[in-house]
Amino acid sequence: MMRSLDGSLRRLRTDWIDVYFNHAVNDPHRMYNPEWREFTLRATEAGKIRWRGMSGHGGRLVECLDYALDNDLVDVILVGFNFGQDPAFYQRYTRGMDLVAIQQDLPRVLRKARKQDVGIVAMKTLRGAKLNDMRPFETGGVGFAEAAFRWVFSTGLVDSLIVTMNKRKQVDEYLAASGWTASRAADIPLLLAYEERHGATQCRYGCNACTDTCSAAVPIAEVLRARMYAEDYGDAALGRETYAALAQPAAACAECPAPTCACPFGLPVASLTRRAHGLLGRNS
Ligand code: SF4
Ligand code: SF4
Repeated sequence: MMRSLDGSLRRLRTDWIDVYFNHAVNDPHRMYNPEWREFTLRATEAGKIRWRGMSGHGGRLVECLDYALDNDLVDVILVGFNFGQDPAFYQRYTRGMDLVAIQQDLPRVLRKARKQDVGIVAMKTLRGAKLNDMRPFETGGVGFAEAAFRWVFSTGLVDSLIVTMNKRKQVDEYLAASGWTASRAADIPLLLAYEERHGATQCRYGCNACTDTCSAAVPIAEVLRARMYAEDYGDAALGRETYAALAQPAAACAECPAPTCACPFGLPVASLTRRAHGLLGRNS
């Protein structure tokens, strides 16, 4: 690990890294490994890193976070968190819509992190970022993106957001949410419109409830995340890179005679994975 850190410092042309993340931790064994504690202790003492971080958005995220917090293994956490993962959003606003929050326990563990003075950064805050679909609903000068960001800030559980911005106009649009600590009245109808429009087709990253339903072991959530980067974020290169890095891409889906994959939220998994492979498989 130290060799890898030294390589990063060389490539970044810096002497230290502020937050060194153990990235995409979705298996608690990654945190059980005593090498993480030993390595971060040595790297911190050597002045090569300032704070220890852990990131994740998989199905076992809460378990990983609990262990890391209970054993003082992190100073900062980076987690997938949006209105679709907040039980409070569904309880308050979506009665009768037959929708439930995934990772019901995530707010609890974020509160625990807060009490321990651990920094919290949220990612995946746009719940899939189908921004263009939302333009017709954006009236009165309030945009969906700022509404989604404000929801995250309104929980009081997050210090900052990390959001993809590759166009200048996105900077202007997203900055509208900066400094807010509560939602505006116009925000909630936009979030509900998004949920009604996309709740049945947008993967709820972080649940992985479909993992064992594919006999070909296609990593469904990861395949759909790569599709999201390419289509919804408009970042084709990131989508292709994410897809190409998968140990098992969705090639099997194209010829799958009798799909067994199933999503408890009703997503049409087979057609979504086939679409992802058609879009991204050429370069994998
Ligand atoms: S496809 Fe459904 S079950 Fe699978 S990760 Fe997405 S929301 Fe969860
Ligand atoms: S279509 Fe077949 S191969 Fe693809 S995820 Fe579903 S069950 Fe697995």
